[in-house]
Amino acid sequence: MLSESAIEVLNNTFGYKDFRSGQSDIINAILLKKNILAIMPTGAGKSLCYQIPAIINELKTIVISPLIALMDDQVNALKQNRVSAERLHSHMKEEENNEIWKNFCKGDIKILYMSPEALMRESKLKIIQGLNIGLFVIDEAHCISKWGHGFRKDYENLSKLKDFFPNSNICAFTATADKDTREDIVEKLTGGNCELFLQSLKRPNLSLSVHQKFSWKDQLLKFLTDKKKQSGIVYCLSRKNTETVAEFLNSNGFKSIAYHAGQNSNIRERNQNIFMTETGIVMAATIAFGMGIDKPDVRFVAHISLPTNIEEYYQEIGRAGRDGKSSDTMMIYGLDDLYQRRRFIEEGSSNEDHKRMDHRRLDALLAFCETAACRQVSLLGYFSEKIENCGVCDNCLNPPLLEDGTELAQIVLSAIYRVGQSFGSNYIIDVLMGVKSEKIINNHHDKIKTFGRGKEYKKKFWQSFMRQLISSNHIIINIKKYGIYEITKTGFQLLKSEREFKYKSIVITENSSKKKYKKDDEINIKDEELPLLQRLKELRLELAKKQNVPAFVVFADQTLMHIVETKPQTLDEMKQIIGIGPHKLEKYGKIFLDAMSS
Ligand code: ADP
Ligand code: ZN
Repeated sequence: MLSESAIEVLNNTFGYKDFRSGQSDIINAILLKKNILAIMPTGAGKSLCYQIPAIINELKTIVISPLIALMDDQVNALKQNRVSAERLHSHMKEEENNEIWKNFCKGDIKILYMSPEALMRESKLKIIQGLNIGLFVIDEAHCISKWGHGFRKDYENLSKLKDFFPNSNICAFTATADKDTREDIVEKLTGGNCELFLQSLKRPNLSLSVHQKFSWKDQLLKFLTDKKKQSGIVYCLSRKNTETVAEFLNSNGFKSIAYHAGQNSNIRERNQNIFMTETGIVMAATIAFGMGIDKPDVRFVAHISLPTNIEEYYQEIGRAGRDGKSSDTMMIYGLDDLYQRRRFIEEGSSNEDHKRMDHRRLDALLAFCETAACRQVSLLGYFSEKIENCGVCDNCLNPPLLEDGTELAQIVLSAIYRVGQSFGSNYIIDVLMGVKSEKIINNHHDKIKTFGRGKEYKKKFWQSFMRQLISSNHIIINIKKYGIYEITKTGFQLLKSEREFKYKSIVITENSSKKKYKKDDEINIKDEELPLLQRLKELRLELAKKQNVPAFVVFADQTLMHIVETKPQTLDEMKQIIGIGPHKLEKYGKIFLDAMSS
């Protein structure tokens, strides 16, 4: 049974009617003083799960968050609902930080957001021990795990929290963590004393597609054909790529800006703000962009090269469609990307164990890319979740044809074997296609039996075919030896006809007439109502700019659409709108009523 006070806070502080699935169980557990780890998909509403107990609790709450922007947004949003929340971070003036700290110690602030570095200083911890903290919340908890995709060194220290505060409640939240990562988080933060809440990670409104890369420019433009004026993200492998992509999109009629960790922080902040507050911006970004980006109407996410691993990929595509409306994702990748990824792992500073794990995770991603099954089934399978076919991914819409590739595979494997397993993809393809390069002639490889045996196929065919051999683990790329191809045990079995090889028919099968996912309770706006919606959006932006907060902090898109759909005439009617609690009603109700009648 959920405490009445939780429902009261939900209604009267946040202006929401009902809890979403999973929220009340988590709130209950926290109110019962249990340590928890909750894995909930992006947009599911993690913040309320700890904010409501923090508001109800007599004691204070400290929330540890990895990003300044994230803290600012959360605190701004809470303040809009008159919750006494604050944050301490290095972008604020020292006096301001001191003042907040003083007020927190005095008990005037209920919820304090901090970075892990600020919290885990010995001197600070000593003082905090005397403050009687009821609840510690670790947001983006995957950052604490070395096995996780976003590991941060300063998060690691948080494993000492449980020793410093044995009587406090520790609650951790994240949107992605595979089994290894989950176990690691639980162990580090709570020593195993923890209740796990695993919510379905399904995001039915996202349509997934993965293609081999032929030309990123053509493929990206094709993907974006029906997406002009929509907000979206294009993830790129390198900093330089982000600039190239932004320039390319701008010259093709899109509004695009770049974001990467090499830019100075002012530019980064400015670009992020533009993305958050204006509509129709395409952010061309490296993986540095995105954590804590709570923009509800990101309509697409494209990857123009291979992401790091499945956790990271899930997190990145998860930034699309937080408002629950259908959103598209596309990944294109080629052999070069794979080679780069392997190289990044090898050249990284991790120890051998960790590198092995990273390679394994990359293998899993590759298997996902090359699968002929439903993408959502394959993706969630990685997080140990079983679901039905999604019906909207590329493989569901266009089931790939499987062909017998045993003989072709034998030609490839034989070529690799006959050149002594000492060369990489380009060389092997040249041999297959009978290219008489100087290097091949000098090595006498134009004399081997397989030279020119693959002439009738194009280079791109062979690249794709070999990628499928790699993802099926018949060939491995040996990065330590400059990316040469080696044959595995199963590869040798294939070569000796002891097993078969089926491959996905190699044709470009992009389909633009997709079935769109529609949410049952999607709000319906008629065409003639669009100008009103636009007017309200402009009003929202104006109000947000005045307060220096992102637009969605004032009202979510869903709220504006609900207003347009139901056209409330009085403050009482306004109160019924999704996302309008008493404080927002007081602050904005009249302004929006006036705007509607003008
Ligand atoms: P995430 O799980 O990604 O951290 P947030 O906590 O930012 O998600 O929540 C996503 C959005 O959903 C926010 O705008 C939040 O106010 C809204 N939300 C959360 N819980 C509810 C609810 N019970 N009813 C309606 N909206 C909710
Ligand atoms: Zn599917």
